[in-house]
Amino acid sequence: MVNYALLPVYLVERTDVGAGSVSLIVARSLFDNEVCFTCLLIDLWKVGLKDGFGKRSIKKSEFDEMFNVMIRDAKKCGVHYHPIDNSEAKWLVAQGIRIAENVGTTPVNKKWVYVVGDISRVKIGGSLYKCYRCEKGELQPKDDEFILEVARSGMELAGSPEETKIEFVCEKCMRKKRVHARKKKEEAQRRKSVTEDSARRVSQGLYEKGYRLY
Ligand SMILES: [Zn+2]
Repeated sequence: MVNYALLPVYLVERTDVGAGSVSLIVARSLFDNEVCFTCLLIDLWKVGLKDGFGKRSIKKSEFDEMFNVMIRDAKKCGVHYHPIDNSEAKWLVAQGIRIAENVGTTPVNKKWVYVVGDISRVKIGGSLYKCYRCEKGELQPKDDEFILEVARSGMELAGSPEETKIEFVCEKCMRKKRVHARKKKEEAQRRKSVTEDSARRVSQGLYEKGYRLY
């Protein structure tokens, strides 16, 4: 049996960080003109590794064509693929399995996980779920437990307006979020005073030109 994990990596790409779900694709060179690949869907905000497919052997040209179609279609929906290191792919898969096991999701066929490589040495500690923004920061125990409870109950938070309101972030991202909110507020206040200033100047100018507009 071929040990796919030992084959040279041909391509590793993932979709945007902080989007909740990650589409991960790992391809390895098989022979001169062939690759094997796996495409995994990992829901980092809820059920973990939830879907996988791939092919044990496909012509490189066919794979390239398929991947280009994937990239193009994703782009149309505002989703972008980015090349990453395979160690990062292993972390994502390990984290996806860790979540899925805790939630009790139907496991994805291991044969698609093997293509990513040996994940047995990836150790992830701390909170089960990680920061919704940076994907690595720790969450507060009460938030962590709440998400797991929601995931286990099968409640649909994903994609609902509620979910966009509830964002679980680590302390570092929370600080950034506050700074961003303060800057936005300051910018809004600045624009407001600039607008009022210019309105005052305009009416002053009109007054000086002899207009009496009251
Ligand atoms: Zn964070």
